[in-house]
Amino acid sequence: MVTRNFQGKTLPLLGFGCMRLPLLPGGKAGDIDEKSVEEMVKVAMEAGVNYFDTAYPYHAGESENVMGRVLSKYPRESFYLADKYPGHQIVDEYRPAEVFEDQLKKCGVEYFDFYLLHNVFENSIHTYNDPRWGIMEYFIEQKKKGRIRHLGFSTHGGLPIMKEFLDKWGEHMEFCQIQLNYLDWTLQNAAAKVQLLREHNIPIWVMEPIRGGRIATLSPQNTALLSPFRKDVTPVEWSFRFLQDIEGVAMILSGMSNMEQLKQNIDVFKEEKPLNEEEKKALFQVAENLKNSVPCTGCGYCLKDCPKGLDIPNLLSIYNDLQVAKSYNASMRLEFLPEEKKPSACIGCGLCSKNCPQKIDIPKALKKLCGILSEIPSWAEISKERAIIAEKARNEKK
Ligand code: SF4
Ligand code: SF4
Repeated sequence: MVTRNFQGKTLPLLGFGCMRLPLLPGGKAGDIDEKSVEEMVKVAMEAGVNYFDTAYPYHAGESENVMGRVLSKYPRESFYLADKYPGHQIVDEYRPAEVFEDQLKKCGVEYFDFYLLHNVFENSIHTYNDPRWGIMEYFIEQKKKGRIRHLGFSTHGGLPIMKEFLDKWGEHMEFCQIQLNYLDWTLQNAAAKVQLLREHNIPIWVMEPIRGGRIATLSPQNTALLSPFRKDVTPVEWSFRFLQDIEGVAMILSGMSNMEQLKQNIDVFKEEKPLNEEEKKALFQVAENLKNSVPCTGCGYCLKDCPKGLDIPNLLSIYNDLQVAKSYNASMRLEFLPEEKKPSACIGCGLCSKNCPQKIDIPKALKKLCGILSEIPSWAEISKERAIIAEKARNEKK
């Protein structure tokens, strides 16, 4: 197993994500096939994959319970367990102590090796900073007490939010989990996020290395671009190889749903085979083909004449993201905006497009963005639903 050194600890470069565990036949999110998880964990541990990443809302709150029971069969010091505080969820009150005690109990442990503030983004940073809840202070204290060995954060937010959070709390942050893959290198500005974390000397944890499966299969056209370089290499392996030699990356999490995926991933991480420059170029061409996006460079020339003062480059970046996957991960970045700054506020005057060197039909893209947004549930809805499910599960166990 390829490993990385983190503060004197040897970590496997491949981590076991626990948000897509196998389900019982016909089961819903909380109906985890625990026997299959047990078998997968055994194979993972034997291969040296001993880092497990769970979170409060995963599998309707059941991921923590299942991982706690499965890992209880192993000596505590033989595995690393990561969990997260759900400050990104929209609830009436945030009670970090209550949630943390519940998490330790569910996982059957006395400490977490790694603990993250879950998804610091445009709509949650205020919660994390809010002195009413004292979230940051509480977790810094838990680290001092040894109940958290390493404190970090995950984020789907933009670069300015990461900067703001690091300016305030960076000295306490030991690692940061970001969405990173060859598609998001440019699409979600991941290259700049990597650079920012390097400047802060913060090791990088990777989530969504294959973009939730979006880059696990490729069209014949895209496959043909890669096949001259390496024979019999799957798109998944290409994605992992791209990440393996990015400076600063110390952990690559993969949410594995069955034994076959686990074994394939273990095979890839038996050795490092970094991509050369030509191979990276071919992979970035594949990324361009996948994007189906508007070619906004973020120059900002369109901004000066917009009568509505819309942040057009930001809106187009979210539009591009949603072209790849219609997921709330992208749309939630819009929800915090006031109505008059949302894409629906565009009056279609076209003044912006006149200034755009890329000749983008901006009003058309914004109209399409409104259409996409109407098709997917909002983060507020999802968050509320998850909080109700978690509360119900807690009450049933009392
Ligand atoms: S078309 Fe929309 S985005 Fe463009 S200038 Fe007019 S209001 Fe602003
Ligand atoms: S002028 Fe065009 S390329 Fe520049 S930020 Fe605006 S939309 Fe993007």
